Amino acid sequence: MATLLWLQAGACSGNTISLLQAEEPTVIDLLTDFGVELLWHPSLGPELGEAVHKILDDLVSGAKPLDIFVVEGTVVQGPNGSGRMDMFAGRPMTEWITDLTSVASIVVGVGDCAAYGGLPTVAPNPSESTGLQFHREVKGGYLGKDWVSKAGLPVINIPGCPAHPDWISQIVMAVATGRAGDLTLDEYHRPSTLFTTFTHNGCTRNGFFEYKQSTTEFGQGTRTGCLFYELGCRGPMTHSSCNRILWNRQSSKTRAGHPCLGCTEPQFPFDDLMPGTIFKTQKVSGVIPRDLPTGADHLTYLAAAAAARISAPQWSKEDMFVV
Ligand code: SF4
Ligand code: SF4
Repeated sequence: MATLLWLQAGACSGNTISLLQAEEPTVIDLLTDFGVELLWHPSLGPELGEAVHKILDDLVSGAKPLDIFVVEGTVVQGPNGSGRMDMFAGRPMTEWITDLTSVASIVVGVGDCAAYGGLPTVAPNPSESTGLQFHREVKGGYLGKDWVSKAGLPVINIPGCPAHPDWISQIVMAVATGRAGDLTLDEYHRPSTLFTTFTHNGCTRNGFFEYKQSTTEFGQGTRTGCLFYELGCRGPMTHSSCNRILWNRQSSKTRAGHPCLGCTEPQFPFDDLMPGTIFKTQKVSGVIPRDLPTGADHLTYLAAAAAARISAPQWSKEDMFVV
């Protein structure tokens, strides 16, 4: 058995709701087949008040071992570093995080906020929020860049806003069954198995992308054109498996006609939510997308784009799924 405690810091519960939709494995599978002993969860735990305090105190004192500590939500340090904007069980949540991360074998940050600070870190950040081990893309965060858990691992981040249900349940399963050491993490502590490829990989609009055929406005049809050129899709530069491990086993944002917002990257939200930057491709000289697919440069892109447009076949300008 592996004991697991899940706490919410500055959170909207989105990752909890996401977890409950997990299918491979489900939450029930985690508890019955993969040896997870859920000590407490703010939405699932039946204990209240003093009973919760006792669970936490036993973990902090070492009376009960804590194998996996999952944090959802941003670390709220305000006002003035006191952490008192986010009180839990009689103390600032920051104090619980300090104590529990020091006794946990493995710490997992679920969702953008826990991983990188998330939306609350956008300036002026009045709550003084930060992530567990990153402040947006800068390593450090609340615990510091060199922090490692008792098992010698940094915080394992499962970003997303929210994280995909199966990303959460699969990583919890791996950790609970003693395979944390097998997980390779990228520079932002994301498990490589889920975050090496891009949202772009597996998107049904790739044919339109190749020939630079654009969707120009929402509601134009869910399978016509690519959302990269006008609607700000960040699929080609966002590490995620959203089009490989489909949401609800059947779809994804881009398949449904919605641009990828890049929520698994630590810089999310991009452009700090400035007016005119959401659902709109930012361009250089009014023509070339400012942010290009990872690995591409503007000069090569320009030449390739011109050739692709000239050679675009008729089918790439139509909804090829309509008969
Ligand atoms: S819609 Fe986005 S993810 Fe899909 S092909 Fe276009 S750029 Fe790539
Ligand atoms: S498609 Fe993009 S914005 Fe949507 S969940 Fe996946 S990575 Fe996040």
